[in-house]
Amino acid sequence: MSLTRFQKSILNWYHKNGRKNLPWQQNISAYSVWISEIMLQQTQVVTVIPYYERFMSSFPTVRDLAEATQDVVMEHWAGLGYYSRARNLHQTAKMIISEFQGIFPSEMDDLVKLPGIGRTTAGAIKSLAFNQRGPILDGNVKRVLSRYHKIEGWSGSSKTNQTLWFYADKHTPNTHVREYTQAIMDIGATVCKKNNPCCTSCPIHEKCKAFMENEVLSYPAKRPHKKIQERSCYFLIIKDKNSNIFLEKNRHKGIWQDLWLFPKCNDLEDMEQICASRGLKIKTFEILERQTHTFSHFKLLYTPIIIEVSVKEQLGNNSQDSVWYTSNNKLKLGVPAPVKLLLNTAGKMLIFNEVQNG
Ligand code: SF4
Repeated sequence: MSLTRFQKSILNWYHKNGRKNLPWQQNISAYSVWISEIMLQQTQVVTVIPYYERFMSSFPTVRDLAEATQDVVMEHWAGLGYYSRARNLHQTAKMIISEFQGIFPSEMDDLVKLPGIGRTTAGAIKSLAFNQRGPILDGNVKRVLSRYHKIEGWSGSSKTNQTLWFYADKHTPNTHVREYTQAIMDIGATVCKKNNPCCTSCPIHEKCKAFMENEVLSYPAKRPHKKIQERSCYFLIIKDKNSNIFLEKNRHKGIWQDLWLFPKCNDLEDMEQICASRGLKIKTFEILERQTHTFSHFKLLYTPIIIEVSVKEQLGNNSQDSVWYTSNNKLKLGVPAPVKLLLNTAGKMLIFNEVQNG
């Protein structure tokens, strides 16, 4: 079947303007496409590049990733957020080794059964890695199609999502799939931008409904407003006499599952009991200014407390789920951004205090 005008316009644009030098566009494999696609979910290209390069250098093959420990994988992800992505990557790598003899599957039905691989990531792997037809609908493609066809409704609603998939599928060609897929993603990222779209340099502007009717910024429809909830807690930055800091692995399901955190509490009165249950006796403590960390669906208001303790029993040492972090050592544990920030700040403060105190 010959290419439609839409497809030809997109492909012509790609040959002149498409991005071809991103790290994951060199030596393309299903593994490299998969890692980059997962990292690029909710994260900008410029942020992803250093993470991608470090990840691929430590885990150059799916087998290397499968054989790594969870802590090492989480440590490579620390700072990228949405940590379930890293847990799913690790689990999927193990499944590819155990169930697919280490060979990345290329069939849609196999791909979407793997943890963390949805229809879009599967489509990207099929098209970008195997050059086989596989429609995709990431945030950039959604924006282009919503505007081009003036699709009403929020893309999170199932009706709008179905309409978007209908057009994503309709426009995906049977040939030149790799170039087309890369091109429509690039147009969304570099031309059909969220706030400052460059419609006059867009290859499909002549038929774009939102452009023709001067309503570009009204599409895609925004998510219906929902009040962001707030949660608050205290982070207990417990230090011993050598200024090592006590961290625990979070085994609870949720956003920070399997990452290393400070013990935390919701009530100051619980601080003493929390330390005592870990064999620690409070000597002094200092409450720092409250800080905020924003997630997609809530805000965490956390108040750090630096607590100096004496260690009564070595309950916290050499356990799989707790560790004394030494500020001199390079951190090799997966910690979320606020913990990393506090470790850096607290580490400097502790060293500074010691120098001041002689
Ligand atoms: S013409 Fe403008 S709004 Fe339409 S697809 Fe192109 S950049 Fe987006």
